[in-house]
Formats: sequence, C-alpha cells, structure tokens
Amino acid sequence: MKREQVFEFFRRLAEANPAPTTELVSENPYQLLVAVVLSAQATDASVNIATKPLFARIRTPAQMIELGEDALRAAIKAIGLFNTKAKNVIALSAALIDRHGGGVPRTRHELQGLPGVGRKTANVVLDTAFGEETFAVDTHVFRVCNRTSLAPGKNVDEVEAKLDKIVPQPFRRDAHHWLILHGRYTCKARLPECWRCPVIDLCRYQPKTPPPEDRTKSSAARTATRASSTARTAKGRTASKPKANRSRSRPNRLP
Ligand code: SF4
Repeated sequence: MKREQVFEFFRRLAEANPAPTTELVSENPYQLLVAVVLSAQATDASVNIATKPLFARIRTPAQMIELGEDALRAAIKAIGLFNTKAKNVIALSAALIDRHGGGVPRTRHELQGLPGVGRKTANVVLDTAFGEETFAVDTHVFRVCNRTSLAPGKNVDEVEAKLDKIVPQPFRRDAHHWLILHGRYTCKARLPECWRCPVIDLCRYQPKTPPPEDRTKSSAARTATRASSTARTAKGRTASKPKANRSRSRPNRLP
C-alpha cells in the first residue's frame, strides 16, 4: 500500500471511531496488566465478566497476593487456561512487589521480564496505560494487516515491525486499537463484511464479500439453476424410460 493510501486507511478508521480504546475494563495499570494476561486466548467480554467482581476488591499486587491463588482460580474459572493464568498473575504480582515496589514498570524489557507477560501484553500496557506508540499484534491485527496488504508479514513480529515503519502520525498511538476493532467487528475472520467496510477501495483482499441481499439473490439463482438442471436430467431419463421398458419387455412376449 502506498504512503498516501496508508494515511487514508487510518484517517477513515479514525473518522468512524475518533477515540478508540481497549475493551478490557480496568481502573489502573495493574488491573490492565492482569486483564491483558487473562485475555490470552479468551474474549475481552469473558475477561470483563470475571474481572468485574474481582477488580472491585483487588486493585494492587499486594491485595492479589492476599487473595491467593486458589481464590483467584475460582474467580477466573470461566476463562480459558485459568489454572496457568492464576499461577502467572500471582507470580507477576509477587514480582511487581519484589522488583518494582508494587508498581507497573514502564519499559518493555521490565514488563516482559514478568511471569506470563509477552511482547503483545507489554505493547498493550505501554500503549494503553502509558501512552507509548506501540503496535500490539493480536489475531485480529495480524489478519487485517495481511488481508488488506496494509502490513503483510509471516508472523506477528514481522507485522509489528511493518506497522512501526508505515503508520504515520497522528495515528500511531491508536493504530492498534483501530485495527483490533476493525478485525473484530468488520473484517471478521470467517466472513469479512466488505459491503460496509470504510476502507473497501484501499483493501487488496479479493473476492470482496457482497451485501447479504446480493448473496441471498445469487444463492436463490444458484438453487434455481440447480433445480432446472435436475428437472432437465429427470425429463431426459423419463423420455428414455419407455425405450428401456420396451427392450426389457420384448423377450417376455416371445414364445
Ligand atoms: S474490504 Fe473486506 S477484507 Fe478488506 S478490510 Fe474491509 S472487510 Fe476486510
């Protein structure tokens, strides 16, 4: 995609949603960090359901340690991989107390040194909690960047590096939010909703998904074609049937 097209791509996403943010609910960087760790291979909605009562009581690493792993496991048991996640959250809370005085560090290196914290989690925390221009690449961002040819790459690191290179100001801070939301609600994995996509003319994905009413019409047309061809075949069989009967019945009339 050319530079001016990339700008236009984000300009349109920004126009449609001027203040995007994560859909994970949290009230401080620590809660955000925990929510992002819990969101691995789970939906933001399922994490929010579990963290709503949890975060009403737990706002700091010390409170999480006091809660303990068993109670945390019970609180998040509706989320996938809850055993490992409970272990990691307790371990990262202890590490925050030991290494960072109970605060959340502001560097990638320190964040990624915490149990259960990978590059994507660090990127989300750096961007959302601390205002850094980072490009967290999750499954939605990866798909949108490859489908559209905005920032194609064989793996998340390649896509992240390309985004870092091509995303212009003033979109760098919120780019990953726009891409996640675009992938989650419009450029969906199974069937991208191209007919209502604001960047349809900039995207290189083919074939574009037509509007539902067109798909209904073309599926009705396909059904009609199939029905008429079935009818023609059946007619052909019926027409040739007497011949077959005649040839079978003749020997019976022989003496
Ligand atoms: S046109 Fe379709 S494939 Fe391209 S970004 Fe939009 S929804 Fe995705």
